[in-house]
Amino acid sequence: MRLRYTKGIHFECQRCAECCGDTHERKRNILMLKKEVGRISEVTKLKPEEFSIPSGTEPYRYVMRKREGKCIFLKGVDCQIYPQRPLLCRFYPFWLEEPSAESYVFRVSGDCPGVGIGKVFKKDDFGKMLKEAIDAYKLGPTLSKWGKKWSQRLSG
Ligand code: SF4
Ligand code: SF4
Repeated sequence: MRLRYTKGIHFECQRCAECCGDTHERKRNILMLKKEVGRISEVTKLKPEEFSIPSGTEPYRYVMRKREGKCIFLKGVDCQIYPQRPLLCRFYPFWLEEPSAESYVFRVSGDCPGVGIGKVFKKDDFGKMLKEAIDAYKLGPTLSKWGKKWSQRLSG
């Protein structure tokens, strides 16, 4: 199993919060696992229904509620649940493409203004993200059944 990524990608977050909701070009669904909703609920003391909506799909059973097109936890350009934000948010502008038998592939969004600026993301950086994904999503043979939906959902 190989880890693949675009070499020489620079990224530094510009704190523009463009990724925290809809843009003129794109509607963004902020998808969450059940355990992420549970963790956010515990920390914020909000009921899951106050900040999320069931999606009816697996593995992301919930979608973050938005207010005026922006995540309800966004205040100005700050995430109010930053340490507990979902993995999709933590990975952005990167996402893990549908795993195949041979490789895990990280893609990068061209919508993020932080791409092309700052430090180069190297193998170690992607390796750490992959480990996080493996821990969070229990990547393994069962993943293959999610097929293309997996990559679409990870890309939000
Ligand atoms: S990840 Fe990209 S889109 Fe999101 S706040 Fe940072 S620079 Fe903006
Ligand atoms: S949880 Fe935080 S980082 Fe994720 S979309 Fe909401 S405000 Fe942005």
